[in-house]
Amino acid sequence: MIKKANFPSKLCCSCGRPFVWRKKWEKIWTEVKYCSKKCKKIKVKKEL
Ligand SMILES: [Zn+2]
Repeated sequence: MIKKANFPSKLCCSCGRPFVWRKKWEKIWTEVKYCSKKCKKIKVKKEL
């Protein structure tokens, strides 16, 4: 049974995996594109 809080979720723009809303993102949720700092770094590397 999956019964978690109804947090919104998104797909990571780097690894493509879904990730769920976190407290630390509550003010920037619309801007969050990556599931982790690691993924953000990977994306930056690709662009350079
Ligand atoms: Zn990711």
